[in-house]
Amino acid sequence: MRYVPVVGLEIHCEMLTNSKVFCTCQNEFGGSENTRVCPRCSGMPGTLPLLNRGAVRLAAKAGYALGCTVHGYSAFDRKNYFYPDLPKAYQITQFDSPICTDGHVTVAGGKDIRINRIHIEEDAGKLVHDDYEGVSMADYNRCGVPLIEIVTEPDFRTVEEVQDFVEQVALRLKYAGVCDARMEQGSMRVDVNISIMPEGSDKFGTRAELKNLNSLKAIGRAIEYEIQRQSEILDAGGEVVQETRRYNDNHGDTKALRSKEEAHDYRYFPEPDIPPVLLTDEEMEEIRNEMPEMPQERFKRYTEVYKLPAEDAGLIIADKAFSDFYDAAVAINPDYKQISNLMLVELNRNLNESETGMEDLTFKPEDLAATVKMASDGVISKNAAKEIVSIMFAEGGKPEEIAKKRGFIMSSDTSELDAAIDKVLAENADSVESYKNGNEKVFGFLMGQVIRALGKGANPKLAKDALTEKLK
Ligand code: ADP
Ligand code: ZN
Ligand code: MG
Repeated sequence: MRYVPVVGLEIHCEMLTNSKVFCTCQNEFGGSENTRVCPRCSGMPGTLPLLNRGAVRLAAKAGYALGCTVHGYSAFDRKNYFYPDLPKAYQITQFDSPICTDGHVTVAGGKDIRINRIHIEEDAGKLVHDDYEGVSMADYNRCGVPLIEIVTEPDFRTVEEVQDFVEQVALRLKYAGVCDARMEQGSMRVDVNISIMPEGSDKFGTRAELKNLNSLKAIGRAIEYEIQRQSEILDAGGEVVQETRRYNDNHGDTKALRSKEEAHDYRYFPEPDIPPVLLTDEEMEEIRNEMPEMPQERFKRYTEVYKLPAEDAGLIIADKAFSDFYDAAVAINPDYKQISNLMLVELNRNLNESETGMEDLTFKPEDLAATVKMASDGVISKNAAKEIVSIMFAEGGKPEEIAKKRGFIMSSDTSELDAAIDKVLAENADSVESYKNGNEKVFGFLMGQVIRALGKGANPKLAKDALTEKLK
């Protein structure tokens, strides 16, 4: 039997607020265990949660970034469960009235993946298992870190659709400043719900929920494994049970973790200590105005207005800081293609080789704009422009000064050029003879000698014309 997979995602994203969602503890990653906890986020009796409005605004931004309706009214509920990572024994979340609903993201192939809801909730702590000592320890630094959970409809049918969606959501949330979306660090955690149904059927099967997927690759491998596992069960006449399974990246397989709790097991009820979350029309307008241009809009501008190849545009928007730098440079010098080339080749090579990021860059968009302008004005050669990018990358400095100091300014002094050509021709009489006898390949060699004699200030176009003339 051939089966079609049906996949829906639940994505948890840690929001980039300064403090936690219901207390004033710092919201940070890393550091020593249990150093960012207080009576509120460690669940001491008698404390009250105080909602961080910054978290509400970021959740609304996530909604705008993902095409959702953002609601002026939303409310918190308690989800009850006992587990040592949750000192309060309940998680504050939004169940009946989430802040955002009904979004969508168009994935490769043009299909719309519907987003059912985005709600705000608090993160739980982390259990650290020490196999050597045979104990588990609790780190509560993460308790009360503000999260959004994005829940999609079960609209995915291929691994590629899932991966494209996750990539796009991550990028949009980064652009909107909601989340740094680092899957490997856990600031964005993707749970995959997957079932299979016979090809041609439209009746969904029973799903398994896969956890612990910390890369796009892992998501792909886990889905493939699960399709195989569930197919074998159905082919053997068995039934898939609804359960949560843990993906093991070393083995590339999934193992049952626990059977899925039904919603009523969580005994959801309205959170009595937090009033409803209200957003006025003015506030929503203000939040919308703070939204930066989204990556897909930039892509459109780069390809349609700037006429960049789609591949180049995709590479530029993939990193917001890189794309911001590009935008600032072309705002000064609208030489879209040349600036794109220097960034995608020279700048990227330097970034990769030095293993640094855009935040470490010592030169500015205007320096790149000026470098490209000097080349297009014929003041320096295109090769010199590339070298200047690498020099600015390594040691900073202004392009005009670098060009002067390193002798990159192309000479338009024809007497110097004439002298150089005469010298080369005199020293290579054999080649000149051979050229005159019809061996045109020698031209390149002679040209190379002339450029070398002139040094970095050589103007290749002038030199070529003059050499052609002299060889007539
Ligand atoms: P629950 O309330 O049990 O958590 P939801 O309806 O909220 O269930 O769905 C949770 C996630 O599972 C969503 O991402 C949804 O798209 C996905 N999902 C629901 N039914 C299926 C199914 N039959 N196969 C695959 N995914 C599913
Ligand atoms: Zn706290
Ligand atoms: Mg659910």
